[in-house]
Amino acid sequence: MKYLGFMVGSQDLYGEECLREVAADTEKMVKFLNEKLSDTISFKLLPTVETSDICVKDVRAIMDDDECVGVVTWMHTFSPAKMWIKGLQELRKPLLHLHTQANEKLPYDAIDMDFMNLNQSAHGDREYGYILARLGIPHEVVAGYYEHEDVLEKIKTFARVAKAIDLSKHTLVATFGNNMRDVAVTDGNRLEAEIKYGWEIKYWGIGEIAELADKATDAEIEAKMDEYKSKYTMATDNVEAVRYQAKMEVAFDKFIKENNVTAFTDTFQDLHGLKQLPGIAAQNLMAKGFGFGPEGDYKIAAFSSVLMKMAEGMKGATGFIEDYTYDLTPGKELELASHMLEVPASFAANKPEIQVHPLGIGGKEDPARLVFDGVTGDGIQCTLVDMGDHFRIICADIELVKQPKPMPKLPVARIMYRHKPNFEIGTAGWCYAGGAHHAVVSTALSRKEIAMFAKLTGTELITIGDDTTEADLDRI
Ligand code: MN
Repeated sequence: MKYLGFMVGSQDLYGEECLREVAADTEKMVKFLNEKLSDTISFKLLPTVETSDICVKDVRAIMDDDECVGVVTWMHTFSPAKMWIKGLQELRKPLLHLHTQANEKLPYDAIDMDFMNLNQSAHGDREYGYILARLGIPHEVVAGYYEHEDVLEKIKTFARVAKAIDLSKHTLVATFGNNMRDVAVTDGNRLEAEIKYGWEIKYWGIGEIAELADKATDAEIEAKMDEYKSKYTMATDNVEAVRYQAKMEVAFDKFIKENNVTAFTDTFQDLHGLKQLPGIAAQNLMAKGFGFGPEGDYKIAAFSSVLMKMAEGMKGATGFIEDYTYDLTPGKELELASHMLEVPASFAANKPEIQVHPLGIGGKEDPARLVFDGVTGDGIQCTLVDMGDHFRIICADIELVKQPKPMPKLPVARIMYRHKPNFEIGTAGWCYAGGAHHAVVSTALSRKEIAMFAKLTGTELITIGDDTTEADLDRI
C-alpha cells in the first residue's frame, strides 16, 4: 500500500519529557490521519527529527522505499532549520508542510511556559518554512487544525497528487509507430519529458502487436468477447470485425503485462500487419486506467495515465479527448469533442453500443468502435505542451452538458461542453496559450489538483475559468 512518510521536527533543548510528548502527540495525529484517510493513503511516522543526522536518516528511509510516495512534515516545537538542510537536499519526493498543532484551542486558564515551549508550531513552522523557501524546494503548505475537514481534504488532495507523481516516475509509454507525419503539437522533447517527469518513451513496431494478435487463441478471444458483451451492447452484425478488436486487445494485454507498460500510442499511418485501427481495444483499455495517445501523442498518453491515477477513487470520469467542432449559436456556444474512434468508455453516459463503420483514413478494414453520449457536470480540460525550453500545462474549467439533439449519423462516441467564462475568452485563451487539440477531460479532478501537480513538478501553469477576463488574454 502506498503511503506518505510523516516527519515531525523538534530538538533536544527542551528535555526528554518534552520529546516523549512530541512523539506521543504525533503518533496520535498519524493514527487519526490513518483512520480518516484510509480510502486514499496511509501514513508512517518516522523518528522525531532532533538532529541533522536523524533528518538525513529519515529522508533516506523515505527515498529508499518504493511504497512511499511523499512526505508530510510538521514542527511540533521549534526545530532549528539548519538541521533540516542536509536531509531536504536528499529528498526528491513530494513534500507537504502541514502547519498545524496538537491542540485546537489555547488552554487560556492553564497555559504556562512549558505548554508554550511544547506547542510552538507558529514559531517552528516559520523557521522551517524559511529553509524550504531558501533551498527553493517545491512544496505544498496546508494550514489549520489537522482534525478539521478542510485540512483533511487538502491532505487528501496532496496524497492523490503524490500518488500521481509516483506513477509519473514509473511511466513507460510504448509508442507503436511514430508521431503523425507533419503534426506539431504531438511532438516534442522526449528526453526532457523523462528528465522532468520520469516518462520513459520507447518505440516498438506495430508488427509486435500484429504478431501477438495472430497468436491469440480462440479461448482468449472468446473471453475478451464475453467482457465486451457484458459491458456493451452489440449493435452490429459484423461480429468478425468485433472479434478482430478483441484479438488486438488480447495482444495489447500481453504486451502491456510483459513490458510493464502504463501507457501506449498508435497511429493510423502505421498499421502494418493489422487489419483495423484499434477502436474498442483502445477504448476499453483507457477505461481500465491505461494511458493512450493517438497519432503517436506520447505526451497525452503519459499525462492521461497520470491524471487517471490522480482521479483514482474519485467520483467522475477522466480520460483522453480531442477538440473537434463547435456549435456557434450566439450565447449558447458548445464544443463537440470526440476522436476518430478512441474515446474512453469511461465517458459513457449510457451503455455504449458496439458499432462497425468505415474509417475514411488509414486504408484498413472497417473498425469496430464503442459509440455513446457523454457524461455531464462540472469538469476541467487539461493539456501539456512542449514550448521548446519548458513544458506548459493548460487547465480550463468547463461544464460538460447533454447534447442538445441526437446525432444519429455520427459514428463515434462524443462529449459536449461549454467553455468558461464564455466561448470567446475560454477558447481564445486556450489558443493563446498554445493548448493542444489533444487533452484530458475530467469530471473528477479540478484546478486545485492540477495546480498542485504543476507546483510540485515545477511546471508552468495557465488556467482559464470564470476568473479569466479579456484583459488576461494579453498576459498569456
Ligand atoms: Mn487526434
